Amino acid sequence: AKQAGRNCYAVYDPRMQKSIEERMQVEKGLRIALEQNQFGIFYQPKVDASGRVVGAEGLVRWSHPEHGFISPSVFIPVAEETGLIHLIGEWIMEAIAGDLVRWQDMKIEPFGDIAINISAWQFGRADFIEKTLAGIRLNNIRVEQLSIEVTETAILGDMGTTRVKLNQLRNAGISVMLDDFGTGYSSLAYLKDLPLDGFKIDRTFVEGLGDAQAEPLVRSMLSIGKHMRLKVVAEGVESKEQFDKLKAMGCKLFQGYLFAKPMPVDEFLMWVKNNLE
Ligand code: C2E
Ligand code: CA
Ligand code: CA
Ligand code: CA
Repeated sequence: AKQAGRNCYAVYDPRMQKSIEERMQVEKGLRIALEQNQFGIFYQPKVDASGRVVGAEGLVRWSHPEHGFISPSVFIPVAEETGLIHLIGEWIMEAIAGDLVRWQDMKIEPFGDIAINISAWQFGRADFIEKTLAGIRLNNIRVEQLSIEVTETAILGDMGTTRVKLNQLRNAGISVMLDDFGTGYSSLAYLKDLPLDGFKIDRTFVEGLGDAQAEPLVRSMLSIGKHMRLKVVAEGVESKEQFDKLKAMGCKLFQGYLFAKPMPVDEFLMWVKNNLE
């Protein structure tokens, strides 16, 4: 069987077959997950140089009744391929908006913006901006409380349209960050041509701090941010050493396990309360 698989791998590659089957299973599972409310939002804080919370990022979680927790890096791509991302994306928006409204009702002091990750396919839709702004108005959410993270692939479409959409968001008061900065093909072109509030230095660069190669790149990214007056967040900060290095290079905003992992909402609110005390 092994040999047969090898001879006609283009069609019958067992690995490929498995992945198609897996994908179909994930797709089926995602539909059920939507119906049965198996998704949840975790929050990971963003902090300043003193470790004080300045906001957070909402990250979707899928808790499957049999397989347990399934990572968004597994199911988001499948959701995108199957178009389910639109429904899931709407669910995510509503869930985060719901939390924001609850926090207002609970009289929790605002502690910064909550960032929502927007997938390429969501952002590309003609009605994305309209729907997002309508949702904000409907829920009476203060725009300062919300920001959006887009990856380079999310804005891969036509630059003109992208610029118009980003301007609409920013004119409405919602800040937009470029996610995974430095990992795409044209990070610098995006910074040049698009109205952005800032960018997030990808974790792979932070991981490499200490390498002769990664370190000057991080330094340069921070310098670009400074000269362009953009906000720069370093992602994936895991050690005190990385934190200290980044601070010495002038970085002002941080996120990573060193401060806190993504947490369920109650745990997150406790964390914020302790952090602000
Ligand atoms: P991302 O937007 O770059 O999110 C950062 C990822 O790094 C998260 O993984 C987070 O849990 C993880 N992380 C944070 N700090 C550290 C650290 O110090 N060390 C390490 N090793 N990892 C850290 P997560 O939650 O598994 O999400 C993976 C990706 O899935 C996200 O990457 C994003 O692209 C996508 N994703 C997650 N939630 C959503 C969502 O609500 N909507 C969309 N469209 N995509 C999402
Ligand atoms: Ca993100
Ligand atoms: Ca990122
Ligand atoms: Ca990423």
